[in-house]
Amino acid sequence: MGAVDCHCHLAAPEFREIERSICYQVKLQLTCLLPGEDVQDIESVLEEAKKCKVLALVVVAEYTEDFEKIIQLSERYPGFVFPCLGIHPVQSSPTGNDRSVTLKDLDEALPLIELYKDRLLAIGEVGLDFTPRFASTDEQKEGQRQVLIKQIQLAKQLNLPLNVHSRSAGRPTINLLKEQGAERVLLHAFDGKPSVAMEGVKAGYFFSIPPSIIRSEQKQKLVKQLPLENLCLETDSPVLGPEKQVRNEPKNVFIAAEYIAKIKGISVEEVIGITTQNAQKLFPRLKNFSEHN
Ligand SMILES: [Zn+2]
Repeated sequence: MGAVDCHCHLAAPEFREIERSICYQVKLQLTCLLPGEDVQDIESVLEEAKKCKVLALVVVAEYTEDFEKIIQLSERYPGFVFPCLGIHPVQSSPTGNDRSVTLKDLDEALPLIELYKDRLLAIGEVGLDFTPRFASTDEQKEGQRQVLIKQIQLAKQLNLPLNVHSRSAGRPTINLLKEQGAERVLLHAFDGKPSVAMEGVKAGYFFSIPPSIIRSEQKQKLVKQLPLENLCLETDSPVLGPEKQVRNEPKNVFIAAEYIAKIKGISVEEVIGITTQNAQKLFPRLKNFSEHN
């Protein structure tokens, strides 16, 4: 049995092959490759993941600009790449400075979410990020809450699960999800205390663990406390890899599985088996993946 990467960003600029493949079609690839650019591309990253027995990739969006790329990728890899669309609590601005999300950002995204709703595995990446440099004022925090509430309601309407980010906002995120009646929830790379995470467990929420667990005491503590029945695997590629500053890839999902096995004192096969079952419970549309693997 293989593993499911429940949260990765394959539309990130670190994986540039999509633009390059368009260049190939018009035989201009040389002009598209920057000097010194890594020759490894999304295609080989995905082939490598398949070879290592990654069964499915849950690809999340952060900005509206990601949406078309993610949909294209899911069309090129049906039954392997599963798209999630949603608006992240931190948005990048044209000046290059990241900023807190606003309802206007969500309004721009909604027509595309509506257009692709039947293909989506979940709504994501959504959530709250109260890191002081993005959300220092009550107004910014309230803006994030409003955007999250609307996306929770949207997920309910579309009968889709939520793929959720929280940073420096573990308790407010779980509280808001519960208040709004969210039922199928993945909390990815949760950075809060185990006691707060257990509130999510009580609500039936799942927690996905990235390979950075090998260097994060907080994640190790979290896994010690959380029941296996609520754990999933993720990579958050291109970040949260086993080594800081090195591009993370979906095949590293097994590094998280091995570390969880060590903490729980069970075999890695068992961790992979249970987390894959959990992912299928959480994301009903994942059941299609077996056709292709
Ligand atoms: Zn993410």
